[in-house]
Amino acid sequence: MTRAILTLNSGSSSLKLGLFTEDLGTMAMCHVDRIGRREAAMKIRDAEGRDLPMPDHAPNAFRTNAAALRTALEVFRADFPGLEVVAIGHRVVHGGIKHNHPVRLTEEMMKDLARLAPFAPLHQPHNLAGVRAAVDTFPGVPNIACFDTAFHRGHPFVNDTFALPRRYYEKGVRRYGFHGLSYDYISGELARTEPALAAGRVVVAHLGSGASMCAIRNGQSIDSTMGFSALDGLPMGTRTGQLDPGVLLYLMDEEGLDSHQISDLVYKESGLLGMSGVSNDMRTLEGSTDPHAEEAIDYFTFRIRRELGALAAAMGGIDGLVFCGGIGENSANVRARVCEELGWLGIAIDGAKNTTHAREIGTGPVRVLVIPTNEEIVIARAAAAVLETLAA
Ligand code: ADP
Repeated sequence: MTRAILTLNSGSSSLKLGLFTEDLGTMAMCHVDRIGRREAAMKIRDAEGRDLPMPDHAPNAFRTNAAALRTALEVFRADFPGLEVVAIGHRVVHGGIKHNHPVRLTEEMMKDLARLAPFAPLHQPHNLAGVRAAVDTFPGVPNIACFDTAFHRGHPFVNDTFALPRRYYEKGVRRYGFHGLSYDYISGELARTEPALAAGRVVVAHLGSGASMCAIRNGQSIDSTMGFSALDGLPMGTRTGQLDPGVLLYLMDEEGLDSHQISDLVYKESGLLGMSGVSNDMRTLEGSTDPHAEEAIDYFTFRIRRELGALAAAMGGIDGLVFCGGIGENSANVRARVCEELGWLGIAIDGAKNTTHAREIGTGPVRVLVIPTNEEIVIARAAAAVLETLAA
């Protein structure tokens, strides 16, 4: 028998799974993309990052997240005979104002979290559908929710509120901040490997398809670029990032767009994709000769610099900058462009170290690090902790 902890990150058209031993060793990772479309594809890698062979799949194997989960489990079971999943950890984007740490899911809790769907309509329902699929597939196995908002719950009031009439704050219209699992991981890595820096003022730039930055002082979130929704702050693959609300009023009143059309525009058609007209993918933009692709990268790196200044101000200075996420970990070009002209802030990087993706690339008084993030292990740790309490 192989006892394992499963982690699930269930999105609108993608599913990420992690399989871990009870003492948190990685067994396998699985990524299913474009669920529900004909081009749906699954990749499974073992602990060493090697691709595992895929069996032939029925056409319906990736029709829904639940079908994709079943298919992934088939592959896991073929590779790990006698596999027994003993706990399942879930990424849940929104924990509202109550949740500042992981929780074991009950029916009551699921209802509570479903009520937060209007706060994250494009993410929360898919996350909870993933939980439902897991409950059906593994009856009786504990499910643990890990919230992207939880890491930020202790941030100061001025970074929690908008200047709206107070009643909206009471109704939950607040700055929640997201990507908390990634910030939690990086914060933990800093505490483990760089305790002096972890006790100081660090900006973490999580730059992936979704992108945000967080100011962390002594391990605590002080401020972040994402606010009420995962739209605010930096431009992203297809999301606008910060947008003057006057633009939305204009789009409604003058262009006649309704809320669904605006939602599609700001979540799915904007950002790097909308600006470049080429792609939402940084690798493609970096390989393109289209001047609009170049402008999109320019805007992206400019906004990161601008937010960096703001977040340093929120902490009264900066001791370290950490890059993570697909772009932050892999694009030397983006890191170089972000850091140029930041000498005034004490940020400078070594070109050769940057190009080889060294862990430490800074040469100025502010430490500059590249640390691969690992949201799955944060979820697996939470699930393992709950298992321990059940065994006690
Ligand atoms: P997600 O938010 O979907 O988890 P990722 O963290 O995987 O996103 O980041 C995806 C982004 O990382 C894409 O824009 C992709 O182009 C970019 N990326 C990945 N590898 C590289 C690379 N070698 N150079 C530049 N960009 C990269």
